[in-house]
Amino acid sequence: MYCILADEWYSCAYNCTLKLERPGMTTYKAPLRDMQFVMQDLLYFEKHYQALPDNDELNQELIDAILGESSKFAEEVVAPLNTVGDEAGCQMLEDGEVKTPPGFKEAYEQYVDAGWPALDQPAKYGGQGLPMSMGMPIREMIGTANWSWSMYPGLSHGAMETIDEHGSEEQKAMFMEPLVSGRWTGTMCLTEAHCGTDLGLLKSKAEQAADGTYRITGSKLFVSSGDHDLAENIVHIVLARLPESPPGTKGISLFIVPKFIPGEDGSIGERNNVTCGALENKMGIHGNSTCLLNFDGATGYLVGEVNKGLNHMFTFMNFARLGTGLQGLAHSELAFQNSLAYTKDRLQMRSLSGPKNPDGPADPIIVHPDVRRMLLTQKAFAEGGRALIYFASTQGDILTTSDDAEARKLANDLLSFMTPIIKAFLTETGFESANLGLQCFGGHGYVSEWGMEQNVRDSRISTLYEGTTGIQALDLLGRKVLGTRGKALVPVTAFVLDFCRQSRGRKEIRPYLKTLVRLTKKWKALTRKIGFAAMRNRDAVGAASVDYIMFSGYLLLGVAWAASARAAHRRLEQGTTEEAFYRAKIQTAEFYFAKILPRTTSLLETMSTGPDPLMTMEEDQFLF
Ligand SMILES: Cc1cc2nc3c(=O)[nH]c(=O)nc-3n(C[C@H](O)[C@H](O)[C@H](O)COP(=O)(O)OP(=O)(O)OC[C@H]3O[C@@H](n4cnc5c(N)ncnc54)[C@H](O)[C@@H]3O)c2cc1C
Repeated sequence: MYCILADEWYSCAYNCTLKLERPGMTTYKAPLRDMQFVMQDLLYFEKHYQALPDNDELNQELIDAILGESSKFAEEVVAPLNTVGDEAGCQMLEDGEVKTPPGFKEAYEQYVDAGWPALDQPAKYGGQGLPMSMGMPIREMIGTANWSWSMYPGLSHGAMETIDEHGSEEQKAMFMEPLVSGRWTGTMCLTEAHCGTDLGLLKSKAEQAADGTYRITGSKLFVSSGDHDLAENIVHIVLARLPESPPGTKGISLFIVPKFIPGEDGSIGERNNVTCGALENKMGIHGNSTCLLNFDGATGYLVGEVNKGLNHMFTFMNFARLGTGLQGLAHSELAFQNSLAYTKDRLQMRSLSGPKNPDGPADPIIVHPDVRRMLLTQKAFAEGGRALIYFASTQGDILTTSDDAEARKLANDLLSFMTPIIKAFLTETGFESANLGLQCFGGHGYVSEWGMEQNVRDSRISTLYEGTTGIQALDLLGRKVLGTRGKALVPVTAFVLDFCRQSRGRKEIRPYLKTLVRLTKKWKALTRKIGFAAMRNRDAVGAASVDYIMFSGYLLLGVAWAASARAAHRRLEQGTTEEAFYRAKIQTAEFYFAKILPRTTSLLETMSTGPDPLMTMEEDQFLF
């Protein structure tokens, strides 16, 4: 066996059994060509940056250079640790400290030394000030290469956003620079054993001390990257309740609780009373330390206003939701790349329409229609999902930096509507892709040697954390759409219809546009119908919400694919040396509209049948 750390075969200085470079672990090649398509042909990143203040120097050459460098880091440093992390997992040592899998620490050092954590952080904290949309492809590459590893720097981003938006000047001075540089990492501590979805039940206590700081007491469950050996300090962002606060969500406040209390000069001070009680044994993402954290009168600093903690935490949660949507895309991409390679290679049976490999003993399985269905589904989810999430990131740029108030308002409307969809839909389709990727390998996908079962296990968490699919669906339909009497839907449907109007001249995609207009009308009508039904029976919302969010996702992905086909036709007309690439875009759009988008018909049906089929059965009848 070859050990990456000892850099030699068989004898390993770390006494570990790294099985790298064996045939079969997942491989990852950054899909730079497709990223460029989305950024150049579809979303015109260069033009987008020129319209934003302070980013007009971000030209195509610079974008390509950044993508090129980060792809090398993802492919060469992080991807080889994906199987290592899965097999070795994290360990809790006798002294209570947590050790990450072999190689994780060294990779993190390289990441920090190269300045990657600071790329899209504000210059005032030592960041490079690039917009959010430039961080997205980098996070995608690193996350697809190794999701567990990427969660360590990933959670820091949410912590930075939260402190930057709600923290005091003193807190920013203390915590931002070390987080931005990557010397310290962040976590998000919400969940407790008795409360995950319903944070109003949380019990962790915060009591004010004489010096104005707080003493935090309680246990937080399932804290991702909760303790580890990668960075010199960990900044926990913690929800807790003051003694005089009201019950429920209105009585929750937000605190910074560092693992080591920083000195005035930013040096690492004494150990705070926050310790890892246990590491979770979990189905996947073994390389990430999911911790039970005990806070025993730990020193904490109040962020923002008392009792406004949940509102403040939404900054973190919204960022994390987009990040989790990205995880869905990552698993689709990894499944697609690996299953594509395998299906071109694996010989089984003959094509129904006559041999395609007459000199061989059988045809490669990619000739079979059902295998193509599985491959194209993964491709459509990965590439369409990329277009969707990169678009959302451009709206994030506009929202945070544009001088144009009207553009900021539209960006806010679109982003707020799309965030639960991206989180729920891309993770559900990511899990579907991971399963299809495994299925393409037949029985060989079920055994660990090819890495496909790891991809399924790793992807499974994405529909659960950061609010389950069910909760995202309630957020979209209950809070955002019906909570505003349908107003939240208006900018999005206007955006879709506007796209269809503007694209009318492109006759090749007219059938797609007709379908999108028809579905958008149904979307509006259905929303009204559910709204009226909900006036009579509130369960009408919960009965329709998951179907509604999936319907919304399929429709928006349809827009992404229609836009991709439009861009590809335009490039073919202009003349290109990459005809095959652009034809594949058009063919994938055709596949999406013919074979995937019709799922909306079934969703429309199931949404229309109301809550009765779910709610009439008494609880004690379930057993019969
Ligand atoms: C590996 C891992 C990492 C995690 N990382 C973090 C982290 O870093 N920080 C953190 O704070 N937490 C983290 N979590 C916790 C995670 O966010 C929660 O598990 C998740 O929010 C769900 O909460 P729960 O497990 O308590 O499930 P519950 O809230 O008990 O939900 C159980 C089921 O009931 C459904 N349900 C609940 N209420 C409703 C409702 N009103 N309507 C419809 N359906 C409902 C849910 O959709 C779900 O299907 C992590 C969890 C795991 C497993």
